[in-house]
Amino acid sequence: MTDMPWLMPVLEQFGQALDQGRLPHASLVTGERGVGKRHLAECIAALLVCDRRTPGMRSPCGECRQCLLVAGESHPDIRVYQPEKSRMIRIDQVRALSQFAVASPQVAGIKVAIVDRADQLNINAANALLKTLEEPASDVVLLLLQETGRPVLPTIRSRCRVLPLATPRAEEATGWLAAELASREQAPDTDRQALALHLAGGAPRLALELLDSDFLTRRDAALEAFRQFMKGAITVAAAARTFRDLGLEATLNLMEAWANDLARVMAGGDARDPGIVEVVRYLATSNPPWRAHQLVDAIRDSRRALVNNVSPELETDRLLVQWRGLMPVRKRSAG
Ligand SMILES: [Zn+2]
Repeated sequence: MTDMPWLMPVLEQFGQALDQGRLPHASLVTGERGVGKRHLAECIAALLVCDRRTPGMRSPCGECRQCLLVAGESHPDIRVYQPEKSRMIRIDQVRALSQFAVASPQVAGIKVAIVDRADQLNINAANALLKTLEEPASDVVLLLLQETGRPVLPTIRSRCRVLPLATPRAEEATGWLAAELASREQAPDTDRQALALHLAGGAPRLALELLDSDFLTRRDAALEAFRQFMKGAITVAAAARTFRDLGLEATLNLMEAWANDLARVMAGGDARDPGIVEVVRYLATSNPPWRAHQLVDAIRDSRRALVNNVSPELETDRLLVQWRGLMPVRKRSAG
């Protein structure tokens, strides 16, 4: 069912609970962005509704009526609730979930509601979901997904069985990514693949997403603008413009990776992003380590502000200015 071997331990854990009749009413699958949480939830949902499921089975039969509906992405008893245009899941979506949870299944013996993601519920939506979690219907299974580092209300978390999904080992991730690209007959570019995996924090699906988009090209442009900005060759506005093409979330991810590289180099280690090595080595010679951590904190503040519809331009400007503040004064006035 899944070609992602790193999902197997969690799938097995879930399957065993299912076989022993102690399936949790609600599970919270946690893991890094792009590690395969949604795919895992879909695998679990498909297994749950399969008509021919027997103990020990970890993937659905693929042939029964339920499985055909799943394959056609039209199974009426599997619903996904995810943020739409806004970045948050709204209360009316959770109300729809609550109604789905108490209604009878249409074609399967069970219903599955996937909340992708439970860390993006606004407070009203979270409270509404809590009611469904507190009064569980017997024929519904809730699969909540949480991205690492994004908080979920403790009251929600405590009503779920938490299933942490580990980021795969580097070889596993590289192997999966290479196989995925080979299956599309794309010419292998191992350097690009390695860079995408690095930028994705080792999460293979996210790396694939980056390779599928023109993200790496936009990232190269942002990196070049960043270098020029640090040298004083271009203005903050000009630098911020190239970051705008990346979007704020990707900008923050990139800057956080660079700030972490800076901290690593300051601690005597190596930078992971080859494109930033020169800049961080230079900054490391003229700044105390706490400056790198201060930068990481500022980036995390921006990330927290992200949910409040902050101005991406202002956040990017603010962070660029903070980076520039790490340049020795002599260089700054020369630029
Ligand atoms: Zn089946």
